[in-house]
Amino acid sequence: MAKSDERQVRCNFCGKRQSEVERLIAGTGAFICDECIALCAGIIDASNSTMSHEAEVRESILQNGLPKPTEIKAVLDDYVIGQDAAKIALSVAVYNHYKRIYGNQESDVEIQKSNILLMGPTGCGKTLLAQTLAKILQVPFAIADATTLTEAGYVGDDVENILLRLLQAADFDVELAEHGIIYVDEIDKITRKSENTSITRDVSGEGVQQALLKIIEGTVANVPPQGGRKHPHQEFISISTKNILFICGGAFDGIEKIVENRMDKKSMGFGAEVKSRKEKNITELYKSVQSHDVIKYGLIPELVGRLPVITPLEEMSRDDLVRILTEPKNALVKQYQALLGFDNVSLEFTQDALEAIADKTIDMKIGARGLRSVLEGLLTNVMFEIPSEHRVEKVIITKECVNGSEPPQKIRRPNPTISPEVINPT
Ligand code: ADP
Repeated sequence: MAKSDERQVRCNFCGKRQSEVERLIAGTGAFICDECIALCAGIIDASNSTMSHEAEVRESILQNGLPKPTEIKAVLDDYVIGQDAAKIALSVAVYNHYKRIYGNQESDVEIQKSNILLMGPTGCGKTLLAQTLAKILQVPFAIADATTLTEAGYVGDDVENILLRLLQAADFDVELAEHGIIYVDEIDKITRKSENTSITRDVSGEGVQQALLKIIEGTVANVPPQGGRKHPHQEFISISTKNILFICGGAFDGIEKIVENRMDKKSMGFGAEVKSRKEKNITELYKSVQSHDVIKYGLIPELVGRLPVITPLEEMSRDDLVRILTEPKNALVKQYQALLGFDNVSLEFTQDALEAIADKTIDMKIGARGLRSVLEGLLTNVMFEIPSEHRVEKVIITKECVNGSEPPQKIRRPNPTISPEVINPT
């Protein structure tokens, strides 16, 4: 490399020299090239358009307090693939929740809240749905993990701490928190039969369910403002849970067997053929779950009674996984493309590569949750090498890369004497 080349200033974002770009703009102690400016403008544009549905809902709340169920669902559609039944149930529940809060105060009909039970295998979008709701709603929202909860007197999280999280989300505005929404994840892990029960918690799991029932059905709870365990001489914040909407979620592994037994023992028959049939129909069985199946699974009847809307979520199919990779506003593929974009390198996946990633993920049996680790495994080396390889302009991921038989293809920028080439490092 010529000495004069070495002395040239570089773009502090992509590392290219002045001679390699059209323009290099100087800031205070740093430079940026025209290509990085264009890339950043694209990223900002993309995030502005991401806001559009959310902005509409916020506007609607500001104007009349009630985002319509279709508006809520439209935002969920931007982020969550499939799961229409759950999206509709959540949109209606949230809409009705707003009505209870802001609706006709003079009516003497008391509308009861419709807490929701989301039921579906791991990695199908239960938490994502709850998190996306949190993004768009103008009420405080908290997520709690049921497995960390304990009945008072045991080591762990008091149920009241869920309310503390909601209070924190409401900036300790008690009235606001009293109209909030709480998502309780992994509710199926506090059942009587759960393997998760430990000696640090009541053995039956029932104590925790009773404590949860109390706040779900409506009580005035005393929450220690600092969290942790209660102790005498402490000051408490009183909060009524009567109007707090609860969304509970769980995988309920094995509940399909309870449903299957109930529905038609005989038609299922015996033997290997039945097993494959069972696997095929698992989504159908989830759709047929009724309250008494949940009670049989181990939730106490009183708690099930407080969760009148049971919504099944579907296991993600191969096609769903491919869509999850590419379609949502913050799809994983878009995220990795943006990451490599900072190095001025484009990233392309062939269709059969996306399908192979979906297949690998299905083998992991953790739903869409596995997609990120498959992609990380695939792209870690690329992300390690690319920043030091200035001539690479495109990386192509093929099915063979996913299956490990070939490395990712790197397309290099032509230099004055050499035509474009595909380099396959061995
Ligand atoms: P769970 O049903 O176990 O709560 P999550 O909602 O936590 O599953 O999903 C884990 C990750 O998988 C999410 O962060 C998201 O990236 C992806 N994912 C799962 N389901 C969907 C879906 N239906 N649409 C889009 N992404 C999804």
